[in-house]
Amino acid sequence: MKLLLAAPRGYCAGVDRAIQVVEKALEVYGKPVYVRHQIVHNEHVIDALEQKGAVFVENTKDIPEGSVAIFSAHGIPPSVREEAKQRKLQTIDATCPLVTKVHFEAERYHKEGYTLVLIGHKEHQEVTGTMGHAPMHLIERVEDVEQLPSFDKVMCLTQTTLSVDDTKEIMGALKQKFAHIKFPPIEDICYATTNRQEAVKAIAKRAELVLIIGGKLSSNSKRLVETAVYAGAQSYLIQTKKDIKEGWLENINAIGLSSGASTPDVLVEEVVAYLKEKCNASVEFVEVAKEDMVFRMPKELST
Ligand code: SF4
Repeated sequence: MKLLLAAPRGYCAGVDRAIQVVEKALEVYGKPVYVRHQIVHNEHVIDALEQKGAVFVENTKDIPEGSVAIFSAHGIPPSVREEAKQRKLQTIDATCPLVTKVHFEAERYHKEGYTLVLIGHKEHQEVTGTMGHAPMHLIERVEDVEQLPSFDKVMCLTQTTLSVDDTKEIMGALKQKFAHIKFPPIEDICYATTNRQEAVKAIAKRAELVLIIGGKLSSNSKRLVETAVYAGAQSYLIQTKKDIKEGWLENINAIGLSSGASTPDVLVEEVVAYLKEKCNASVEFVEVAKEDMVFRMPKELST
C-alpha cells in the first residue's frame, strides 16, 4: 500500500503560539493557570496541558477572582475582556493574530458605515468572538444569501478556517446580489487553512481513502475531510490510530493522510507506524507549500 503523507499538515503558527503561551504562563506564574475554552481544538493537547497544571473552563465566571486567565486561539468578543476586568483577572490573550485581523476589520468597516456580512459556522468559538466586535449578518451557505435584505455599502468577512471552495461559491453569490460588495485586501481564510486544503486535494486525487487526524471540534479538520470527499476520495476524521476501522483498509492501494492545524505530529507518526505495520505501507511525501510563519508571544510573556 502507498501512504501519501500531505504537507503542510498539523500545527500552524497560531496554534503553536497558543500552546506555547499556556506552557510559558505555567512556567512564569506557576499552576494553576486558567484557560477560557480549549486553547486549541484538540483533546490530546488539552490533556497534556491539564497534566501540567492548566485548568480549562468555558465561562469567565468560573475563573477565581485575581487568577491568571488565558484566552484561546479562537478569539473572544470584547464583553469577555470586560468581564475578566471586573473579576480582576490577570489576562493573557492567545488569540491568533490572523483572527485579531478579522476583529480589526469588523470594527473598522462598521465605523466606516458598512453593513457587515460574515461567512462562518454558527456557534463556532471564533464566530462568536468576531460577532462581538460589530453588528453583522452571519451566513453559512449559498442559500442564505437570498435571505439577506438589500444594503448600500456591504463588506464581507469570513471565519479563518472555512472551505476555500465553498467560500468562493458563497462570495460569488454575494457579488451577484451586491454589485459593489467589498472584501478585505488580504483574505480572511488563513494561509494554514488554504495550504492544508491544497495538500489534501493533491493526495485525494491519488488515494482511494484519506484519513484526517483532528479534534472533534476542529473546524479546519472537518473542512479537510470535506475537501478530500469533493476531490473524489472516501474520507474520515479520526482522533487517534484507535479510530481506524480495519474494514476501511480493505482493497485500498493508496491511502492519504493529513491532520488539522491543531493536531500534534506525534498522532500522525502513530498512524504512519500503524499503517506500516498493518498494511506494509510505503510513505511518499506530497508537499504543496512551505511554511515559515511565526507569531510573536503576547507582551506579558515576551522577555
Ligand atoms: Fe491562526 Fe489560521 Fe492557525 Fe487559526 S488556523 S490559529 S487563523 S493560523
